[in-house]
Amino acid sequence: MKFRSIKGTKDILPGEVETWQQVESTIRQIMRVYNYHEIRTPIFETTSLFSRSIGELTDIVSKEMYTFTDRSDESLTLRPEGTASVLRAYLQNNLGELAPNTKLYYIGPMFRQERPQAGRLRQFHQFGAEALGSSSPQLDTEMMLLARDILRSAGVESFDLKVNSVGCQNCRPAYKKLLVAELKRLQEKLTLESQSRIEKNPLRVLDSKNEGDARITAHLPLMKDHLCKECADHFGSVQSILRSLSIPYAIDGRLVRGLDYYTRTAFEITSSALGSQDALVGGGRYDLLTEELGGKATPGVGFAAGIERLIMALDKKGIARPAGPKLFLIGLDEPSRSLTFLRACELREKGISVELDYLGRSIKAQLREASRQQADYVIVVGERELQTKSVSLKEMKTGSEKKIHIDEIAAALR
Ligand code: AMP
Repeated sequence: MKFRSIKGTKDILPGEVETWQQVESTIRQIMRVYNYHEIRTPIFETTSLFSRSIGELTDIVSKEMYTFTDRSDESLTLRPEGTASVLRAYLQNNLGELAPNTKLYYIGPMFRQERPQAGRLRQFHQFGAEALGSSSPQLDTEMMLLARDILRSAGVESFDLKVNSVGCQNCRPAYKKLLVAELKRLQEKLTLESQSRIEKNPLRVLDSKNEGDARITAHLPLMKDHLCKECADHFGSVQSILRSLSIPYAIDGRLVRGLDYYTRTAFEITSSALGSQDALVGGGRYDLLTEELGGKATPGVGFAAGIERLIMALDKKGIARPAGPKLFLIGLDEPSRSLTFLRACELREKGISVELDYLGRSIKAQLREASRQQADYVIVVGERELQTKSVSLKEMKTGSEKKIHIDEIAAALR
């Protein structure tokens, strides 16, 4: 075989695609319930849109983006996530003027050149939501509820919600300074990766998956204990709403998402069914992002979730069979085959799903094919049927047969 799909990309084949369609339809349905509206943005954008928003020093921007120069010498990037594009579209189309509280969602492919493994792909699919225009902690909680509702309705039954606050431009710099000083004292004991993050992205050192790093940094101060009054109040409100709704959650003071734009709330939903790549949903508030992109200051909050991981975490798995045609029309000889094809075309035009054999196979092979495709009904047309204009409509499940006029197939199937 000469051509194979690129490492880290996947074909979604019939049999599997039905689950995807079901998940997508659940996403749309629940987004509707929460009154979020779909937005579809281009798959590639100017590279600087992502480096400005996600952050030059993050893993995504510094090592994972699919960036290329097009024939006009412009640097373009396949989107590694959805928020930057949605905000770009929000600003460019003045959506905030139409609706001071804009609620958007998206579903689509994202691209990151990560090391492929179970649950980690190079082209993967996310759905996500963004609420722009309000800094109310109610919306932070709404995002968590929305993500939870979609997971539940799609069939994921067990997961954990973790929340944290990463502060704001008023309280984070002082905390960062404190943390960097502490980390420098421990520098030699940390992994090389964490050492390289001390200056660039110190909060992420606390989020290191390495056990040694975690042990060494266990006693270090956490952002959540150094919040300014406004951030502390906001975090308190988010938690009090979660408690009022009896939503189980855990505070994880080490939770820092891999994107720089977050302020205040950061949250993650994980599933123990997933193994090492256990994050299903990641989200948080990004009150400074629109300004960073050159727009008017607009608070915002959102989340993104991976569809591949959601499907891996489904409790009730089972390969769905592609739905079969309503009717399989079998022609026995050349004239019958011509007629069955014309009839199939007419029936399809009326919205009835019809299949036939295009390979000139025997009646036995055609019947086998009808049954393999799980057709509901079969009609066999031969010389006699052409003459009498009478055919027998056979229901595959019961084997029962009914004589009908050849012009009355559509009516009989209704
Ligand atoms: P992020 O945009 O990094 O906050 O990721 C949000 C969610 O997208 C994660 O919780 C995963 O479910 C999913 N995700 C992120 N990266 C990948 C990947 N490389 N492959 C599959 N799913 C991913």
